[in-house]
Amino acid sequence: MGWVNRRRDLGSIIFIDLRDRTGVTQVVFNRELNPKAHEKANHLRNEYVIAVIGTVKRRDADTVNKNIPTGEVELMVDEIRLLNESKQPPFLPGETVLPNEEMRLKYRYIDLRREPMQFNIEMRHKVSKAIRDYLSAEGFFEIETPFMTRSTPEGARDYLVPSRVQPGSFYALPQSPQMFKQILMISGFDKYFQIVRCFRDEDLRADRQPEFTQIDLEMSYPQTESVWAVVEGFLTAAFKAAGHEIKTPFPRMSYDEAIQKYGNDKPDLRLPAMIDAREALTPEEWDDLAAKFRMRKEFPLQLIRIPKAGDISGTERRTIGTYGAYQHVQGPSFVQLMTDPKRFAKDYPALSEKVVSFAKIEADDLWLLAGAANRPENAAVMDQSIQHFCEKCGFLRLDLAQKYAAKHKAFEKTGDTAKDFRFLWVSDFPMFEWDKTEKRWNPAHHPFTSLHEEDMAKLEANIDSVNDPKSPLGEIRALAYDVVLNGTELGSGSIRIHRQDIQAKIFQALGMSDEEARARFGFFLEALEYGTPPHGGIALGLDRIVMILAGAESLREVIPFPKTARAVDLMVDAPTPVNEAQLKELGITIRKARE
Ligand code: ASP
Repeated sequence: MGWVNRRRDLGSIIFIDLRDRTGVTQVVFNRELNPKAHEKANHLRNEYVIAVIGTVKRRDADTVNKNIPTGEVELMVDEIRLLNESKQPPFLPGETVLPNEEMRLKYRYIDLRREPMQFNIEMRHKVSKAIRDYLSAEGFFEIETPFMTRSTPEGARDYLVPSRVQPGSFYALPQSPQMFKQILMISGFDKYFQIVRCFRDEDLRADRQPEFTQIDLEMSYPQTESVWAVVEGFLTAAFKAAGHEIKTPFPRMSYDEAIQKYGNDKPDLRLPAMIDAREALTPEEWDDLAAKFRMRKEFPLQLIRIPKAGDISGTERRTIGTYGAYQHVQGPSFVQLMTDPKRFAKDYPALSEKVVSFAKIEADDLWLLAGAANRPENAAVMDQSIQHFCEKCGFLRLDLAQKYAAKHKAFEKTGDTAKDFRFLWVSDFPMFEWDKTEKRWNPAHHPFTSLHEEDMAKLEANIDSVNDPKSPLGEIRALAYDVVLNGTELGSGSIRIHRQDIQAKIFQALGMSDEEARARFGFFLEALEYGTPPHGGIALGLDRIVMILAGAESLREVIPFPKTARAVDLMVDAPTPVNEAQLKELGITIRKARE
């Protein structure tokens, strides 16, 4: 039984490719052998649903199709039944040319019949199952938490659900089960996990969806390393389910090191780190060079290298060496770039040689040197930090990688898992980050994250400085970590605060009054007072993991019913206005949008 994938009519013989979830099989209707069935086959069209009974035969050697697993056999039909007809679909599951994505999303049921989509959804099932099996065997319980709840501070806007029985009150859909999983630790379920939907109303990109799935977990009495070991364990199981052996433990790096060497907090280890080229020079050489190129001496001289970039024309090289070329990469306004390496080698042969051998630069590598500009016209940015400078260099590195490494297929899979999947733990994130728009410090992760014990005094000394951009709050480190794969953040977690007094201090440092904290998190602060065990956890994006394993370009390829970039479900046509009666029942009036 299955769908008519394709019909070829050769007159006295009709071939049907019969398709189901497992693939296609060739079915043969022969007029001479079975005129009745042949006549019926005349009326079959694409996507009709049929049942056939017959005999499986080996194909003649010259008709064997090596491209499909069933290519050596065919089914000679005795009897056929038409189970259902189909309108001509807007596109065919068997076609190689895809219609535009809107069409695919509107007719998602047809799109999901396509082989690559069937593969992705199967992959998703296998990966989730492997994770569930692994965690269950490790003693974790999968426990559900409510969807209709209160706001959880994960940094996005909430989706709200109005209450009919309490007009004017709203539930929030969870941005994560954060507080519930911590409450589960207080409740004695010392190993929790959940493959769970989270809801965040934020601006969407290709790798974001308003509702997405997390592998969420929490443990009591953990060290950071014990959380990491569990994650490495279930990722090993998940990757194995997709046919890849990965190597554990993953390498580790502090946030500071990541910024300094990669210019961001999710380094792509498939490309070399940046090197501070000052190390290749004597102090006098650096003095000279810094003066000549008007660079700030106390800032690193970042060497950015893209290996095997291939042939690059002279003009291109010169453009790479001017920062006009980078205005689009968030404007590296205070990055001073050296001219192209060839020119540098000509003007400063000795220095160039030193740098080349220090950084082991090879002939077809693309590289450049970036220092912090020391020019009066850059006065506006002269007070920027070394971290900020490194981040700018990090943008350059990724931009060049996009242009040159990608062009030379540096990111293509080699089949060697150790090279193809570069995992990494990044730890010791800052506790707070400065929000430029709101002009205040916000939690870099979420406000339940523990800080380093030795930074406690700093917190106490600066507890009332939430609006001061220069506050040392920015130097406080959190016991927070991210797991990163090939430059993509797969998940974040932390060791939590388990003492009510410390939690209260964090709220205070975040500028929340006692009443406000009680109003928002009263139940939680109270729960913390009843013998809360030390605990910690993490959450990883399942959709993202499956996307990487499926080699897909967008999350929409691995989510059966996704939303568009405008958060619309094109198939069911949601969201929609609701009728007056419903609104009245909820006590809601819609304000007319302003002209
Ligand atoms: N709730 C956090 C998040 O969704 C993850 C965690 O801290 O466990 O990002």
